[in-house]
Amino acid sequence: MPSSETRAQTLGPSMIWRNWVSNQVCRVKHFEMPSSDDAVCRTIKTAASTNLRVRVVGTGHSYTPIVPTDGVLISAERLTGIENIDPTNGSVTLRGGTRICDVGLELRSAGWALPNQGDIDLQTMSGAVSTGTHGSGDSLQCLAGPIIGMRIAMGDGSIANFDASQDIDVLNAAKVCLGMLGVVLSITMKLVPAFDLHDKIWRE
Ligand SMILES: Cc1cc2nc3c(=O)[nH]c(=O)nc-3n(C[C@H](O)[C@H](O)[C@H](O)COP(=O)(O)OP(=O)(O)OC[C@H]3O[C@@H](n4cnc5c(N)ncnc54)[C@H](O)[C@@H]3O)c2cc1C
Repeated sequence: MPSSETRAQTLGPSMIWRNWVSNQVCRVKHFEMPSSDDAVCRTIKTAASTNLRVRVVGTGHSYTPIVPTDGVLISAERLTGIENIDPTNGSVTLRGGTRICDVGLELRSAGWALPNQGDIDLQTMSGAVSTGTHGSGDSLQCLAGPIIGMRIAMGDGSIANFDASQDIDVLNAAKVCLGMLGVVLSITMKLVPAFDLHDKIWRE
């Protein structure tokens, strides 16, 4: 019986993919929704062995043609959840496909918060980080700013760890990569103590 590492993988079905606003459309040869790091790596290796290009998609909220492919499209939709909250250095490690809206409550119950986010919070953390998505506030960084580590499945199906304490320049280059470096499996980022926002509306 072959192990899961050696078993040949059949890639997923062909489908028409559209982004959120339907201004980007493509027919992908194979659509995959892996739920584990191993499954992502196996998909990449199978695609590479048949000379197929691989792209990755979060929730498809980008307007520009940075997702469409005629090869393999990997959805990050099932790569979700918080892996670890580290109170010693105030950081969280979460899987790439975790939606921004699914992070706040769990962080708050542990006494922490993301430093900043945008108004709409349906995007995946990996998609938001990869495009430099930002909130408002002239002293606040974009979502990629507080990242101190990333785990990425590379083009050969291996896993690379990028760590601020080892090489900050390489990590900075990996943050806003538009899906060109590999599949972001996890992100580790600094948090701030939980806080309340006050909403003030000026009516004319
Ligand atoms: C209604 C709406 C509101 C928005 N509000 C804001 C805002 O307030 N501020 C702002 O700055 N932007 C905003 N945007 C833009 C949006 O945040 C970005 O387009 C963001 O990239 C969308 O995230 P996504 O999960 O949909 O990523 P996608 O659009 O699916 O992908 C974006 C890029 O990330 C890559 N990617 C996705 N997941 C991974 C992964 N796991 N590994 C590697 N690469 C990956 C893709 O290949 C692609 O290149 C908004 C967009 C919409 C439609």
